Amino acid sequence: MWIGKSTIHIWILTLWSLASYAHAKQFERLLLISFDGFRWDYLSKVDTPNFDRFIANGVKADWIKDTYTSLTFPNHYTIVTGLYEESHGIVANEFYDPDLGMEFHNHNVTNVQDGRFWGGEPIWVTNQKNGGTSGVFYWVGSEAEIKGYRPNHYANYTVHNASMELWVNHTDQVIDWMTDPKDPVNLALLYFKEPDATGHRFGPDSPEVEDMIRQCDNITGYILDQIAEHGLNDLVNIIITSDHGMTNMSKDRFITLDGHVDETKTDHFLNYVIGASVWPKSGFEDEIYKNLSAIDEHVKVWRKSEIPAEYHYSNNKRIPEILMAADEGWGIKQNWDDKHYLLGRHGFNNSEMDMHPIFLASGPSFKKGYVSKPFENVQIYGLMCELLNIVPAPNNGSLDAVSHLLADNVSRSVNLVWQIALLVGGTLCVILLVCIVRELFKPYLKKPKSLHDWDDRSALLEGA
Ligand SMILES: [Zn+2]
Repeated sequence: MWIGKSTIHIWILTLWSLASYAHAKQFERLLLISFDGFRWDYLSKVDTPNFDRFIANGVKADWIKDTYTSLTFPNHYTIVTGLYEESHGIVANEFYDPDLGMEFHNHNVTNVQDGRFWGGEPIWVTNQKNGGTSGVFYWVGSEAEIKGYRPNHYANYTVHNASMELWVNHTDQVIDWMTDPKDPVNLALLYFKEPDATGHRFGPDSPEVEDMIRQCDNITGYILDQIAEHGLNDLVNIIITSDHGMTNMSKDRFITLDGHVDETKTDHFLNYVIGASVWPKSGFEDEIYKNLSAIDEHVKVWRKSEIPAEYHYSNNKRIPEILMAADEGWGIKQNWDDKHYLLGRHGFNNSEMDMHPIFLASGPSFKKGYVSKPFENVQIYGLMCELLNIVPAPNNGSLDAVSHLLADNVSRSVNLVWQIALLVGGTLCVILLVCIVRELFKPYLKKPKSLHDWDDRSALLEGA
């Protein structure tokens, strides 16, 4: 017999090992966390023992460069698509779309859930197109159907005050998704609205922001503890980042538009304090541009064709004919109401240091104790695709810009090991199947080896 029982056992054991590896690989997970408005240098303001232990086991960038404009909706969507704002189309928190003939406002639930506004391909769509399962607890764009997909699990955003109890509940939900016995997510996103809200209200250098950084550190500790308690330390890569930074404002640094803009000569005029988008009526372009340009040296006024190329902010119909951008720390006021006054703001030139957010990462695929030079947040999408072992959709990033964060080629070697395992496993399966079939049909396939066999058979037949 050319196949023995012991040989079958060895092969079964081999296949079981390969299946176990495949199982572990399948359930390797990625968790992306955003703390809104977490400026790059906030970690140095107070003691942050939990962020510290996360960094000690992983990587930290000095800072990362957000995209222009440095606002919440555009940058969160850039993080998950790898696209500049002109490419994904969320060009501000509020904008006008001439094709749809509609304005988009980030506080309008109908707008937010309207898939027509969302371009590009967010990471949860790429993941699900490749057979993954995604869970999103609040992320810009996650409430809309995009390219025919919604996240497998998601939560509609509700305005809320920061509270540890709520944050723990959100974290528990994400951990439940990741540990679901039937269909665990391999990609989870988790968003916290702080320290942005506190930074706006009290300013980035306030003791209130320091308290909020401690609270962010506390929830980070809770997340890490939960990951460990569920035995996921070696199976979860975690990225902690943010959309933008924050800078101090002053009532002395505001430019008044009242009297300078005749809104009867514009189709759309959206003032968002750190800038404004102006769509002049036909024939009034030059007049409005000239008037606005003369207002104040602390506000830049560009025709669409003049916006500096470094902003990657011109090639989209939603970018206005005339764009106003206040210098960092300055604001534009119109029909002013004091309730609009905030001690901290963002959205300015994305080359200003105060606009830059944090980037930290840890997990089996990342280096340990490594500090990286800054990179752009358009790189995060491609990095996440690499971690998930999936091919990214077209984007503005390049894996070369961030591959140095990964443990020595760990991701690529996993790819290679996985491919070899599939090849070897597949071959062994075929051989094993052939052997089993041969064993089962052996009596029927057995041919007479000698004349003597025929004689025995003949004797049997004769006796019958
Ligand atoms: Zn934000």
